[in-house]
Amino acid sequence: MNELSTPQTTPSWRACKAAQQPSYPDAAALAAVTADLRTRPPLVFAGEVDALRRAMAKVERGEAFVLMGGDCAESFADNTANNIRAKLQTVLQMAAVLTYGASTPIVKIGRMAGQYAKPRSSDTETRDGLTLPAYRGDAVNDHAFTPQARTPDPTRMLDAYLRSGTTLNLIRSFTMGGYADLREVHSWNRGFTANPAYKRFEAFADEIDRAMRFMAAAGVDFDALRQVDFYAAHEALLLEYEDAMIREDSRSGRLYSTSAHLLWAGERTREPQDAHIALLAGVHNPVGVKIGPRTTPQEVLALVDRLNPQGDPGRLTLITRMGADRIRQALPPLIEAVQADGRPVSWVTDPMHGNTITTANGYKTRRFDTIMDEVRGFFEVHRAAGTHPGGIHVELTGDDVTECLGGGEHIDEATLARRYETLVDPRLNHQQSLEMAFEVAEMLSR
Ligand code: PEP
Ligand code: MN
Repeated sequence: MNELSTPQTTPSWRACKAAQQPSYPDAAALAAVTADLRTRPPLVFAGEVDALRRAMAKVERGEAFVLMGGDCAESFADNTANNIRAKLQTVLQMAAVLTYGASTPIVKIGRMAGQYAKPRSSDTETRDGLTLPAYRGDAVNDHAFTPQARTPDPTRMLDAYLRSGTTLNLIRSFTMGGYADLREVHSWNRGFTANPAYKRFEAFADEIDRAMRFMAAAGVDFDALRQVDFYAAHEALLLEYEDAMIREDSRSGRLYSTSAHLLWAGERTREPQDAHIALLAGVHNPVGVKIGPRTTPQEVLALVDRLNPQGDPGRLTLITRMGADRIRQALPPLIEAVQADGRPVSWVTDPMHGNTITTANGYKTRRFDTIMDEVRGFFEVHRAAGTHPGGIHVELTGDDVTECLGGGEHIDEATLARRYETLVDPRLNHQQSLEMAFEVAEMLSR
C-alpha cells in the first residue's frame, strides 16, 4: 500500500512572480493554517490521480471525451447535499447522452470539491464611494460588502478543505452507491426530452433507448455499470493552500497535489515562468491551462516545456476559451504549433469565459447560442486540423437558475432577475446543460 506523507520540500514557486494572491493582514495566522493543513489527510489519493492520467491519455488519442462541469465559484452557503446531488445528477445526465454521441467513454470531472478561489480583474471593488478588497472566493473572504467580510481570512482555507472533503465524500457515496445507475440516469433524460421545449432531442433519446434495450437483450450486466468514476478539479489559484496540500507518494517518491485529481491554471496566472506554473510543474497530477484568444504559439510551447517536457501521456490539457467570434482564427495556429512539436496534449473547450457580456440592466451573462457557437467552432477547427476535440469545460449548476440567456426556455434579459444566484460568473442551469449535452452529442456522432 502506498502512503502519502507531507514532503520535506515542495515545488519552488516562492521565488517566482505570483499573480492574484490575497494580502493576508496576519502572516502568523496564515502560517498556522498552512502548518495545520500539512498535517491533514489528503482529499484524493495517488492511485486515483494516476487513473485520471490514464483516462486523459485516452482523451489525447481520441479514445475518450472529457466533460468538466460545475460552478464558477462554489460557495460555503451552497455546500449542501441537495446542491451537490443536483450538480452531480446534471453531469451524469450529460455524460450519458455524450457517451452515446461519442461512442467512447466520457471522463467525468466536477468543477467541484475545491473551486473556492477566484482570480479577479481588479484587486478592489468600489460601491457608493466605499472601496474594499474584491471578493476572491469563499476560501479567501466573504462576498458581503463590509470591511470585515472582505478582509482575507486564512482560516477560511480550513473551511474550504473540510467542505471539499465532505463534498467528495458525498460524491463518492452517490457514484459508488448506485445513484449513477445508467438506467436511472437515462430515465431522467427521458423526462427532459418529454418537455415540449426539447422535443427535437426525442429522436436521439429514442435511439439511446433502443441501444439500452439491445444491451439488456445481449445480457449486459447493468448492475456492474452502477458505479462510475467521477473526478474533482479546480483552479489552482491559492498558492499557500495548494502548497500545503502537496504530499509525497512513498512508492514512487513523486509529489502529488491531494487537493483535487486535476488542477488547472487560469488565463490570468499562466505565465510560464510564474509561480502557478512552477507549482503545477512540480506535481504529478494531470494539469490543465486555460488559454485565451491572444495566446501565441510560443507561449503554448513554453507551457508544454514547463509542464510536460518529456511529452508524457495524459499530463497536459489545454482548455481553450477564445470567444465564439475568435476561436476559428485564434485556435488553428496553436494547434499547428503543438502538432509540429509532437508532445501530446488534450484539447478541451471552455465556451463560457470568452463569451461573457453585461446586459443593459446590469447582469453579467452569456448567451446560450454564442456558447454553442464556440463549441461548434472548436469542433470545426479540430476536424479541419485532424486533431481530437477532447472535451468541454462548462460552468453549470443543477438548479433552475436564470443566469445565462436563451436556451429552450428562452431566458431573456428581464428574466435574469428571477433567479440570478451566482457569486461570480453566470452558469448554465440544469435544462440548458442538458440541451448543450444533446447538441454536443449530435456533433460527436457526426
Ligand atoms: C474560471 O474558470 O472561472 C476562470 C476565471 O476562467 P479563465 O481563467 O479562463 O478566465
Ligand atoms: Mn468563471
